[in-house]
Amino acid sequence: MNQVHHIRHPLVQHKLTLMRQKDASTSTFRRLLNELSMLMAYEITRDMPLHAVQIETPLESMTGQLIDGKKLVFVSILRAGTGILDGMLNVVPGARVGHIGLYRDPKTLQAVEYYFKMPKDMEERDVILLDPMLATGNSAVAAIDKVKALKPRSIKFACLLTCPEGIATVHQAHPDVPIYTAAIDRALNDHGYILPGLGDAGDRIFGTS
Ligand code: URA
Repeated sequence: MNQVHHIRHPLVQHKLTLMRQKDASTSTFRRLLNELSMLMAYEITRDMPLHAVQIETPLESMTGQLIDGKKLVFVSILRAGTGILDGMLNVVPGARVGHIGLYRDPKTLQAVEYYFKMPKDMEERDVILLDPMLATGNSAVAAIDKVKALKPRSIKFACLLTCPEGIATVHQAHPDVPIYTAAIDRALNDHGYILPGLGDAGDRIFGTS
């Protein structure tokens, strides 16, 4: 079953509110996204399996815990996923990174793929897909389809904002993929933008509006 993990931590909510404001500058938006992504990484990786290791401190030996298995893979859905990726890599610097290039056809709102590059040994890895906005859900479903074909050990989807339509679309196609989000907004408008939302995440990260 698809679970939606709504991350309500006060620091996450505070930073998200600052980001939503239309007069936040590009540098402020980018910095807040970076900080927020680090905070979200804690929640998203909370259930990662550990294994016991024997180590020596300067004083004695002890049993410690290390993350189990092959390195995690962050898959950035271009281009806005890059904004979350940087923050996540601050917290998990050894993670591998995949990229999926998708754009939304402005007329059909369907996802069109133009790039796909993943690390090797995907069957042994846990994947976290990154896209700040889970809006229509079409890009998310297309990205999950492609990654699932490589049979990773697990897949999670992380976004800043989503809405009931996006959750329903992903839920219907991929009920086994949990969604992690900082907010579930009211609805989509006719152009596929989330309301109240924060506008075009890519434009706000890269200053391209
Ligand atoms: N993509 C965005 O950048 N913003 C939205 O509101 C929806 C999709």
